[in-house]
Amino acid sequence: MLILYGGEQFYVESTKITGWKPLGRKFHVTKSDGRILQELDGIPAYEVYQKYLKIQNDENFFYHTLEFPMFYEHNGTTILRVPVASNPDNSITMSSDIDVNSIVRISYGDPETIIDSIKTAAMREGSKNTAYTKSSVQAKSLTHIPLASRLANFISATSLELEEMNQQLANINKQLKKTAITDGLTGLYNRKEIQSRIGEGLHCMRGGIFSIIMLDIDNFKQVNDTYGHQEGDNVIIALAKILQDNNILDAGAFSAGRWGGEEFMLLLPDCGIDCAKDIAERIRKCFAGTTFQQAQSLTVSIGVSQAREDDTLDSLCVRVDEALYAAKQSGKNKVVVC
Ligand code: GH3
Ligand code: MG
Ligand code: MG
Repeated sequence: MLILYGGEQFYVESTKITGWKPLGRKFHVTKSDGRILQELDGIPAYEVYQKYLKIQNDENFFYHTLEFPMFYEHNGTTILRVPVASNPDNSITMSSDIDVNSIVRISYGDPETIIDSIKTAAMREGSKNTAYTKSSVQAKSLTHIPLASRLANFISATSLELEEMNQQLANINKQLKKTAITDGLTGLYNRKEIQSRIGEGLHCMRGGIFSIIMLDIDNFKQVNDTYGHQEGDNVIIALAKILQDNNILDAGAFSAGRWGGEEFMLLLPDCGIDCAKDIAERIRKCFAGTTFQQAQSLTVSIGVSQAREDDTLDSLCVRVDEALYAAKQSGKNKVVVC
């Protein structure tokens, strides 16, 4: 059917209605079907109106949501969609289609302005008559929650969300920081971090003492070659566990790091050379006493050195590396102090 309107006295008046203010956060339309808005941010669309504005799913839904339509930009134009009814499945029927993936915001508009504007956006024949009667909608008695209370609820719900998001961001940040300083295979500090801690130790020495221990698994290449890389990894992880064992390292706030492949470094604050040597011996014995599923028994060589006032990071690391080298040269499975 085709209807044509016309006539010399025929006017079509279109009015751009303004004055809506977007409120708070954006929502992503995650599910919709034509006029049926099903989900916002993955939750049923009605629940958004319930959570943020305490609007009930009852016969007054339309009148209450009239003040709070959806507001979104579409092809450079701001579009309003008014919820007209809430459905039993908690979806909302909108005044017109609303596309999936649109970004929308709940907005606030004064209901009188909306109703008046709807009346002026009309077709008319003949001269203009502005003396229309007040709407029965305005006369309708509604169980109104005061606007201030709805807005206060909106603010408190969005603030709570912001707090939760901040907490999540803080956790992600913490996790990222941890990942940046951790060795993936063993969970020990990575080389950069243990180097930086030793550097800090030297910087803050001021008469205090600390020692470092460098370890290297003996004949480790053979483990890989004979039993495969996985068994090699198991051995590395087992040594890392020993280096985190408080019963073996009763040296206070020590730090353990993976220096490279099968090499490790320990930083022992407040620990002189005798204390460090003692701990190194305990590690050596514990590792030698460990039985591996395939490789059976293995050994580790260890270099130990105490930091000196005039040490740099390089000089201290070179010295402990020399001690480790001496342990290897003199038959392995040994602790050498330098
Ligand atoms: P030495 O007793 O003189 O220390 O001899 P070695 O065989 O232990 O030392 P070498 O440096 O010849 O071999 C170390 C091997 O460690 C070589 C490398 O393939 C292996 N490796 C390095 N990183 C990893 C790792 O993450 N997992 C495994 N399974 N092997 C690794
Ligand atoms: Mg090595
Ligand atoms: Mg080795």
